[in-house]
Amino acid sequence: MLIDNIKLVQEKIASSLAKRREAKLTGDEVTLVAVTKNHPASIITDSLACGLRDIGENRVQEAKHKQEEIGKEGTWHLIGHLQSNKARQAVAHFDLIESIDSEKLLNEVNKEAARIGKVQEILLQLNIAHEEQKSGFEKEDYLAILPKLDEYKNIKVRGLMVIAQACEDVEETRPVFAAGYRAFVRLKAMRSDIDILSMGMSSDFTVAIEEGANNVRVGTALFGARDYSLKF
Ligand SMILES: *Cc1c(COP(=O)(O)O)cnc(C)c1O
Repeated sequence: MLIDNIKLVQEKIASSLAKRREAKLTGDEVTLVAVTKNHPASIITDSLACGLRDIGENRVQEAKHKQEEIGKEGTWHLIGHLQSNKARQAVAHFDLIESIDSEKLLNEVNKEAARIGKVQEILLQLNIAHEEQKSGFEKEDYLAILPKLDEYKNIKVRGLMVIAQACEDVEETRPVFAAGYRAFVRLKAMRSDIDILSMGMSSDFTVAIEEGANNVRVGTALFGARDYSLKF
């Protein structure tokens, strides 16, 4: 049952947070983003009914169709790679775009947000793990973009997003999350409105929280296996 899975995930979140508090590190709240990609729209309605307010989708088209079906309640997070030609729809359908990974995308999203008079909240995705996925700013590009962020008048940067590599031993993700946290602390020191560090999914969210994540993106642990035969 979904409600039981939510309880289990929330208990794990609480015990990881407790460890972090024992270590006298900051952070006292974690946002659980329910990753509903490749599940029917009804699962979003169920999640909202169970009190989850944050919905994560990785494709713009899929989110758009689901919103047409069930409406747009809660806070919607775009967590998958975004192509710049989809920026208009991303701005129309998401409250937080977590996967901003290039200057080109910053430009497009800013332009589309300005067009409709929106200030789009975003996270900058950093490529720290390097192995599996190629998305995310490389360090040099990230450092180069930081002084320019205020030029994007219709973008509000809330923080960072990091995806760890897939690995057999979850402990191997710890250095990646620790590096994500260090980058977050540095960014926070430069910009007062930085408050979100999105790290961790079903397989590694406990480690991510121990290392400082305050936003986790969890699908499988809540909803079971995804159904890739579904078409949206
Ligand atoms: C699919 C996805 C998740 C959720 O993965 P689970 O292993 O099902 O929890 C988290 N983050 C991103 C970026 C994803 O694409």
